[in-house]
Amino acid sequence: MSAPEEDYRSALTAAVGHARRWLASQDERPVGPSRTAAELEVDFGGPLSRAGTPATEVVDYLAVKAEPGLMAMPSGRFFGWVIGGTLPASLAADWLVSAWDQNAGMRFATPATAAIEEAAGTWLLDLLGLPPNADIGFTTGATMANFTGLAAARWRLMADAGWDLEAEGLTGGPRIHTFVGIERHDTIDLGLRYLGLGRPTVVPVDGQGRIDPVELDRALGLVPARAPLLVCLQAGNLHSGAFDPFTEAIAVARAHGAWVHVDGAFGLWAAAVPELAALTAGVEGADSWGTDAHKTLNVPYDCGIAVVRDTTALRSAMGVHASYLVHETGGPADPFETVPELSRRARGVPVWAALKSLGRDGVAHQVRELVFRARQLADRLAALDGVEVLNDVSYTQVSLAFGDDATTRAVTARIIADGRVWMSGSRWQDRDILRISVSNWSTDDDDTTVAVDAVRDALAAVRGS
Ligand SMILES: *Cc1c(COP(=O)(O)O)cnc(C)c1O
Repeated sequence: MSAPEEDYRSALTAAVGHARRWLASQDERPVGPSRTAAELEVDFGGPLSRAGTPATEVVDYLAVKAEPGLMAMPSGRFFGWVIGGTLPASLAADWLVSAWDQNAGMRFATPATAAIEEAAGTWLLDLLGLPPNADIGFTTGATMANFTGLAAARWRLMADAGWDLEAEGLTGGPRIHTFVGIERHDTIDLGLRYLGLGRPTVVPVDGQGRIDPVELDRALGLVPARAPLLVCLQAGNLHSGAFDPFTEAIAVARAHGAWVHVDGAFGLWAAAVPELAALTAGVEGADSWGTDAHKTLNVPYDCGIAVVRDTTALRSAMGVHASYLVHETGGPADPFETVPELSRRARGVPVWAALKSLGRDGVAHQVRELVFRARQLADRLAALDGVEVLNDVSYTQVSLAFGDDATTRAVTARIIADGRVWMSGSRWQDRDILRISVSNWSTDDDDTTVAVDAVRDALAAVRGS
């Protein structure tokens, strides 16, 4: 064996061992970390030594020292934020992506990753019921997927207003008026900010956080005629899991000539489940969509997906060339033309592996199971004295309260300190809440039973104190 071969062998073998031990510990270990970042800096910081360290030693040190500071996010008992686990096929594919070390920006340079990502993209459009000829970009996450869709929107709206955005920038150009539901995800505002579009107009929502189409119509009617308009809708509200009424809201937006973008970070996946299709009905009528593969699909971080119907707008906004060179529509895009980055890892490969390992039925089953577990948790918890389920549990999110805000905060803190499960505290519709997000393929009956016990015990402890 050559020296480099031996170095790779021993470092990778060590990594496999550590990875397997970590994954095997998920069933039993406390979910939360036992050390803080500040404490761990002692192990990882200090001056960089002059001499290097053998690769295998580096790997062993990393794994052992990091362990107490790791959150068991791959565990079926992790219910925080909206953070999915990792499927075996996608984790292994992700390792291959690192080993292959392809700079996945150009089709001709890395044909295998381009073909794999294109196949994954075609499957995704089919599964999610989106236009089969739309372009796909594999971004770092939904924040950047949304940003990408909004960038395409900005390009198209400015071009249609007769403004050369690339040459002139935004200054002096027509103002794009942007509209969001009050309960949109904050990263939509971030995307608009990156794009220089300013703060959006907020439109009232109903009790589950769904945008009100009548209010949207009214808000759109207040801007001057022929002003460029951009409407952002949402599939999957962070707190309730609710979906905007796409058919009505998109019809309203269309009547005003607006571009419609949908943030479907975790919710767009409902479209893959026949019984849940009503939630996303009409969503295919939008212009662009952002979603995540690292949430509901359970691929490793990081992976978001941008989908844009108007391929000219997307490639013009993201491609690294002047607008006068963008004539080709119809052919496949180079990967760098559909995402903000030029160089990137082939993060669509773990998506392909996840879809290939699950199959169409497996994807539907995985999403259906998450919803089933969320409803099971909501039903069991609602049966406990002193627990209020605040949302209609139509998808994967459950928002709870325990009487007043102080009690809810105390119960949340107890649950996190207890360690059997991990759930996020948040604030929704002027109340402190405990939010459960079921996002992990491996969450099973034992996990939901432990979760109910943990909530019950925490509430009892708070009441008894
Ligand atoms: C998670 C999330 C985002 C942001 O996605 P990242 O992958 O964290 O960048 C945007 N919108 C919604 C609804 C989300 O749940």
